[in-house]
Amino acid sequence: MRAVLAVLFTALSALASDADGRITALVGGTVIDGTGAEPLPDALVLIDGTRIAAVGPRSTTAAPGGARVIDTRGKWIIPGLIDAHIHFFQSGGLYTRPDIIDLRGVRSYADESASIRRRLPVTLARYLASGVTSVVDVGGPYSNFAVRALARRTLLAPRVAVAGPLLGTYAPEELESEDPPVIRVASPEAARALVRRELAYKPDLVKLWLVERLGLDLAAELDWARAAIEESHAAGVRVVAHATQRETARAAVLAGVDVLAHSVQDRRVDDAFVALLKARNVVYTTTFAVAEGYHEVLSQSVELSDIERRLGDPEAIASFAELGALPFGKVPFWVRLQPPPNQRVAFANLRRLQAAGVAIAAGSDAGNIGTLHGPALHRELELMAEAGLAPMEIIVAATHGGARVMGRESELGTIEAGKLADLVVLDADPLADIRNTRRIYRVVKGGVVLDPEDVLAAALKSQ
Ligand SMILES: [Zn+2]
Repeated sequence: MRAVLAVLFTALSALASDADGRITALVGGTVIDGTGAEPLPDALVLIDGTRIAAVGPRSTTAAPGGARVIDTRGKWIIPGLIDAHIHFFQSGGLYTRPDIIDLRGVRSYADESASIRRRLPVTLARYLASGVTSVVDVGGPYSNFAVRALARRTLLAPRVAVAGPLLGTYAPEELESEDPPVIRVASPEAARALVRRELAYKPDLVKLWLVERLGLDLAAELDWARAAIEESHAAGVRVVAHATQRETARAAVLAGVDVLAHSVQDRRVDDAFVALLKARNVVYTTTFAVAEGYHEVLSQSVELSDIERRLGDPEAIASFAELGALPFGKVPFWVRLQPPPNQRVAFANLRRLQAAGVAIAAGSDAGNIGTLHGPALHRELELMAEAGLAPMEIIVAATHGGARVMGRESELGTIEAGKLADLVVLDADPLADIRNTRRIYRVVKGGVVLDPEDVLAAALKSQ
């Protein structure tokens, strides 16, 4: 009877969702702290209010009397996951990027955007339920700042860092609206003015969209890019760049960007590139999942994982199959001719940069067609393993690495005394198989212990 009561008490404690300053002790789990240090078995993690008060072996770390005890024996505790590259202005569904596949004749972009805004509270909850306690929205319309404000008001959301509109080498006319996600920059003066406008909203990052297109004069583009970087840095705001080709990425880093938003995909990185990233302390973000997402939807060969089925947006998922049902003539001719993505070069580049000690962050580019808000990060981690990274390296990238992109590594991304208590408690060992990050027992955000099932259910109920 006593044992039954103890189990019941533990379960109830774990379900409690208050951070009223009481002390919570996670007792007996194996801690993987996000620094890359050896896992600590039979550990005790002490949470005081919103922060981690202590972490150490259970034999030497005591929980004070009256602490709420959560039994984590047989569990693994990692820092809250961070998706370092997402976009809230995109749904993950079929109609979300008319500049890539134009189906505005089927669903207007205004309709798509309105639907995305309506579903935001639930979209935020999908992240938290997926164990993702922080995300970086790497660029979108000014409404991004409202998303960050919304996330701050609710418990059922990850922490959100945002960039404003992408300052771009072109602006797709298909995405035009009163509040466009991309703005074409014409001159260094225009770049400075655009950055100053954004600074009023206190962006976490400024985003440059250096999209390589035929006939692009990169040198001219770099003139305004340097001006934008200078203006941002003068205000203490770091800059992230989309640059997927090696030479564009190199030029962006030389111009002063702090974060690369994607892997280099076209050519192998060289010694000088590796040394440059190290010397400049640049964080390199992976984004492997997005190419696969596009391919699966466009070629109508979608394969959803269990966590995608459980936590992915059903409306986005339902939209995937609508492509196959569209009449001939509605679908651009090239769509079905897309070969599967070849990530061999990008995978090799990740291995090389990781081996050289360059800071890596895991980012899925969720919101793009086929890349689902929330669960997409787990697929990203699996692809990083396919690229050849060890589970420990992947966990560090998906926690500490993401905190570096956010500029918040002093308080997020690792399990250390003094840091915010953002944690994921897993039912299985992620070092044995990185896919075990999907086996989520509890999510802890700012010291509040949550059952992932409850997170999504509560958000759906309050919709
Ligand atoms: Zn992106």
